[in-house]
Amino acid sequence: MRKLALHWQIMLGMILGVGFALIMANFESGSQIVTDWVKPFGTIFINMLKLIAVPLILGSLIKGVSDLKDISKLSQMGGRTIGLYILTTLIAVSIGLTVVNVIKPGKSISEETRNELVESYKGDADGKIADAEKQKNAGPLQALEDLVPSNIFQAASDNGNMLQVIFFAILFGIGLILIPEKKSAPVKEFFDSFNEVILKLIDLIMLAAPYGVFALLAALVVEAPSADLFKALGWYAFCVLLGLGLMMLFYALLVYVVTKKTPKFFFNGIAPAQLLGFSTSSSAATLPVTMERVEEHLGVEEEVTSFVLPIGATINMDGTSLYQAVAAVFIAQAFGMDLSFGVQLGIIATATLASIGSAAVPGAGMVMLVIVLAQAGIPEAGLALIFAVDRPLDMCRTTVNITGDAAVSMIVAKSVGKLGEPKVKNWDDDYVYK
Ligand code: ASP
Repeated sequence: MRKLALHWQIMLGMILGVGFALIMANFESGSQIVTDWVKPFGTIFINMLKLIAVPLILGSLIKGVSDLKDISKLSQMGGRTIGLYILTTLIAVSIGLTVVNVIKPGKSISEETRNELVESYKGDADGKIADAEKQKNAGPLQALEDLVPSNIFQAASDNGNMLQVIFFAILFGIGLILIPEKKSAPVKEFFDSFNEVILKLIDLIMLAAPYGVFALLAALVVEAPSADLFKALGWYAFCVLLGLGLMMLFYALLVYVVTKKTPKFFFNGIAPAQLLGFSTSSSAATLPVTMERVEEHLGVEEEVTSFVLPIGATINMDGTSLYQAVAAVFIAQAFGMDLSFGVQLGIIATATLASIGSAAVPGAGMVMLVIVLAQAGIPEAGLALIFAVDRPLDMCRTTVNITGDAAVSMIVAKSVGKLGEPKVKNWDDDYVYK
């Protein structure tokens, strides 16, 4: 029997998960059964992915940096990576602003619906606003200060501190470049084997992916708010989705123009990571799979993936910045505010920074949205307006975040001569434990 390609298996898992939850919701305590007996498997699956994220970043980045053999190459790649990340984020925000200003979804929200939404989600919104408060009070150099860990074990044990782990790994890699080859060789060899093991573990974990996403989506469906609220926010959600769709087209075009790789090749290669991003709403949890796919299926060499992707998962969130721009203007429109051109320019700047500052976990983009709203003078209470549809939009924006990282890593790889042929050519044979 021909084995179904991984992304189809995951897709099937998702569809069956949604179907199962819809059926269960018809039974008394059916939703509770899903929460008690199915959801934990989804959580276990995400935990497995997160479990290997830190060792993966440490191992592959140390090896990747030390393989560069030359610090100037590192700074060249670093400059291009950061430059492209900022550029794609600016483009994303601009697309978001254009869409929301043309469609004006906030104008179609009646005052009654607005009040109802604000009333129902006030408590949830307050929680996010309180989270954002801590970030808002930070000094201008706080981000820089946070980059440097005082204890690597503490950094590695804290899920939100991926940048600190990245910092340590780059530093360690630079140290390896600077010592004599004879001394560095055993350490490099160690990390080489270490990486092999981690990559194998990703293969193993991915065998469970179709079941993991089944559990994740089933749990999401039984916990979802009522469909009526969804309808009220339809135009807003449409704007975000349209913007995200345009961003996908942009990536495909960019990759094609720069690398001559077709959209089919690009999307086939990255699809399982996209689907996991969609199911988990977390770029961080998806990172191990994104790295594996980009390296083995898109042909980007490890020196590039190990550097570009962990940084991208943490700071490059095009989908998030686009969503923040749309959401901010939508809330303003719903409250009957007219935003001047100057304020909208301000949104470009703050949404770019806020997306960089968003953690790669579910719902993080919404916390940072509070800061965008505050800067633009839009009522923070408006956050309650968009709560009902935030999770599905989070799933979609995370998918775009991951795709953006993959696209940039291909472009950077091309520019430094490290884009080759994919190591795995037969999509169907992948992830079979040999
Ligand atoms: N969930 C997103 C991510 O991990 C961040 C966000 O927009 O909430 O990429």
